[in-house]
Amino acid sequence: LSTDSDVVKREAVSMSKKRLRSNAEKFEFQAEVSRLMDIIINSLYSNKDIFLRELISNASDALDKIRFLSLTDKEILGEGDDTKLEIKIKLDKENKILSIRDRGVGMTKEDLINNLGTLAKSGTSAFMDKMQTGDDLNLIGQFGVGFYSVYLVADYVEVISKHNDDKQYVWESKADGAFAISEDTYNEPLGRGTEIRLHLKDEAGEYLEESKLKDLVKKYSEFINFPIYLWASKE
Ligand code: ADP
Ligand code: MG
Repeated sequence: LSTDSDVVKREAVSMSKKRLRSNAEKFEFQAEVSRLMDIIINSLYSNKDIFLRELISNASDALDKIRFLSLTDKEILGEGDDTKLEIKIKLDKENKILSIRDRGVGMTKEDLINNLGTLAKSGTSAFMDKMQTGDDLNLIGQFGVGFYSVYLVADYVEVISKHNDDKQYVWESKADGAFAISEDTYNEPLGRGTEIRLHLKDEAGEYLEESKLKDLVKKYSEFINFPIYLWASKE
C-alpha cells in the first residue's frame, strides 16, 4: 500500500535525478521531431539565448488566446490570480531549474500530446533542410518548432499545464525519442496556464544569473504586451 505522501516523495526523488515519472503514459515523438530534438540537444550552436525568446513568445500567444476568448465570455478568465494576464520567470539556483509560467489558455492532455510531439509539422523537415544549407538555429521560431529550442540549454524538461476543460497534466521528456504524460498530483494547482521547467545542463549555469536573465528579458519583451516578472531564489 502506498500513501499519497509516499507517492509525493518518490516523485520528488525521481525528478531530482531527472528521471521520468514511473507511472506516466509513454509516447514516441513523431520521427522528424525526434531527429530535430536530437540535433538540438547535441548542438554546439553558440547563441543559446534564443530559447527564452521562443518561450516568451509561446507564453504571449497563450495569453492572447485567453484574452481573445474572454472578449465574448468573461467567465473564462476565472477569478483572483487567474485573471492576471502575466508571465513569471523563476530561477531556482539550488536545483538548477529555470521556469517560465503564464496564465494563458493552457493545454489539455490531448493538446500536450498533439502540440508537443506526436503531430507532424511541415516546418520540421523544412527547418532541418535550412540548417543543412548553413542557416542557423536562430530561425527555429519561423518554422513552427520553436519550443524544442529548450533543449539547447536543458536536458530534461517538464511542461505542467492546466486548461479550463481538463485536469492538470505534466508532459516530460529528456529528448531521447520519447515523452511521458501523467496527471499532475505533485505540484501546486496552476489555476490556469502553463509552467515550463527547464532542468539546465551543467554547462548552462549562466541562465541562473539574474543579471543575464534581466538583460535577456529586456531584449525579448520589446513587442510583448503582457508584464513579465523575474524571480530569483537565494543560493
Ligand atoms: P509555434 O509557437 O510556432 O506554434 P512552438 O514549437 O513554439 O510552435 O509551439 C508548439 C505549440 O505548443 C504551440 O502552437 C502551442 O499550441 C503549444 N504551446 C507551447 N507553449 C505553450 C504555452 N505556454 N501555452 C499554451 N500552449 C503552448
Ligand atoms: Mg512558438
